[in-house]
Amino acid sequence: MERINVTIDGTKVTADKGTTVLEAARSAGIYIPALCSHPHLPSSRQVEPFEVVYRGKEKYKNDKSTNEFEGCQLCLVQIDGMEGLPTACTTEVTEGMAVHTNTPEIQHKRRENLKPIISEHPNVCLVCDRKEDCDPFRGSIRKAAVITGCEFCPNNLRCELQEVAAYIGTDESTPPYEYRGLPAVKSDPFFERNYNLCIACARCVRACQDVRGNSAIGLVFQDGKAIVGSKAPTLEESGCQFCGACVDVCPTGALTEWINKWEGVAEKQVVSTCPYCGVGCQLELQIKKDRLIGATPKGDGVPNKGQACVKGKFGIVEYVHHPERLKVPLIRKNGSFQEASWDEALELVAERLGSFSPSEIGVISSAKCTNEENYVAQKFTRAVLGTNNIDHCARL
Ligand code: SF4
Ligand code: SF4
Ligand code: SF4
Ligand code: SF4
Repeated sequence: MERINVTIDGTKVTADKGTTVLEAARSAGIYIPALCSHPHLPSSRQVEPFEVVYRGKEKYKNDKSTNEFEGCQLCLVQIDGMEGLPTACTTEVTEGMAVHTNTPEIQHKRRENLKPIISEHPNVCLVCDRKEDCDPFRGSIRKAAVITGCEFCPNNLRCELQEVAAYIGTDESTPPYEYRGLPAVKSDPFFERNYNLCIACARCVRACQDVRGNSAIGLVFQDGKAIVGSKAPTLEESGCQFCGACVDVCPTGALTEWINKWEGVAEKQVVSTCPYCGVGCQLELQIKKDRLIGATPKGDGVPNKGQACVKGKFGIVEYVHHPERLKVPLIRKNGSFQEASWDEALELVAERLGSFSPSEIGVISSAKCTNEENYVAQKFTRAVLGTNNIDHCARL
C-alpha cells in the first residue's frame, strides 16, 4: 500500500493512500471534532443511502433510494493551496499536504454549523457560562422527568456532544432550543431511546445498516417530521439483534443503557476477553468503585473491530454482580447441593471418572467455552481419559 506524507498542525503524519484527513489525524492522535463520523463506521466518503421509513396513514413504507446526507460539517480544516474549508472526513490525503485543524476562521464556521445541530437539543447547559457552579447541586437535580440540560441528563460528563461543544465553544447568539416533546421509548430490553436528545447524526443508522447489516433503525418521517427511529413500532419487530452497536456510537444521551444509566463516568477501563463464546471478542470493561458498570467492545487492532453481540455487550455486568452467581463448586450430598473446595470437587470428579473404562466415557464440549478451553477439553479426553468420544454441542 502506497504511503502518503502530510503535515497536520505542524506534525508529520504518514497514512495509507485513500485515507481521509480525519482518519490520518485520528491515527496520529490529533483531535478534529466530528459528530457524524466514527472510527467504528465506514469512512464518510462511502455513506450508503439510508433506509427511510414513512409512517402515517401509509403504514411503514420503506425506501432505500433517497438521501443526501450532509453530515455535521464540524470537521472543517484549512489546507494550504486549497480554497475554502473542506471537511476532513471527505478529503483524501495527498502527498505533501499541509493541514490546519484549529484556526479562528475554522472555529467561527464550526460554531455557526453547531447552532442548527443544537437548536432542537437541550442546550442550556452547553451555552451556560456558569455550568461549573452546578457541581455541588448535581446529586439532587439529576433524574428529572424531562431532560432540559446536561445536569439532568444521564449522559452528563460522558457525552461527545458536550466535548465537541466545549472544544468549539458556543456564543450568546445560540438560539433557545425547541423541545420536541417526544415520549422516551422505554420498552426495549437493554437500552432506552430518548429521541429528544437525538441530533440526527445518523451514526446509529449507519452502524446498524452498514456495519451490522441489519437496518432495524432508519430515518423516519412521522407526522411530516424527520426523526431517527425503529422501522416498526418496536425494535424487536424491526429485527433488532440488540448488539448495542448503535448505543456505542451515539454521541449523545439519546441511546442509554439501562444497566448504567445513572452510573456516571467510569474510573478505569480494563481490557478483557468476552467469556461467552469462542470468538474471543475484546471488551473494555468499565469499572467504578471496584464494580463493573459496563462493557464496550474494543476498536483498534482487535478482531472484533469495535463490535460485540448482545451477550458480550449487555450480558456481562448483570451476571458478574448477580446475587445468585455460582462462585464455588457445589457437590450434591444427601440430596442437596453443598459448597465445596475446588480440590474436593476435582478429586470427586477424578475418582468417578476413574471408575469407568475409556469406552464408557463421552465428553461434550461447548460453544460457550473459548477455543483454548475446547482444545484443552479434547486433549484431556484423548490423552488423559484415553477415548476419542469427544464432541461439541454445536453439532447437535
Ligand atoms: S446528551 Fe450530552 S449535551 Fe445533551 S443534555 Fe445530555 S449530556 Fe448534555
Ligand atoms: S442494537 Fe444493533 S441491531 Fe439493534 S438497532 Fe442497534 S445496531 Fe441495530
Ligand atoms: S440516536 Fe444518537 S446516533 Fe442515532 S442519530 Fe440520534 S444522536 Fe445520532
Ligand atoms: S458471545 Fe458475542 S461478544 Fe462474546 S465473544 Fe462471542 S460473539 Fe463476541
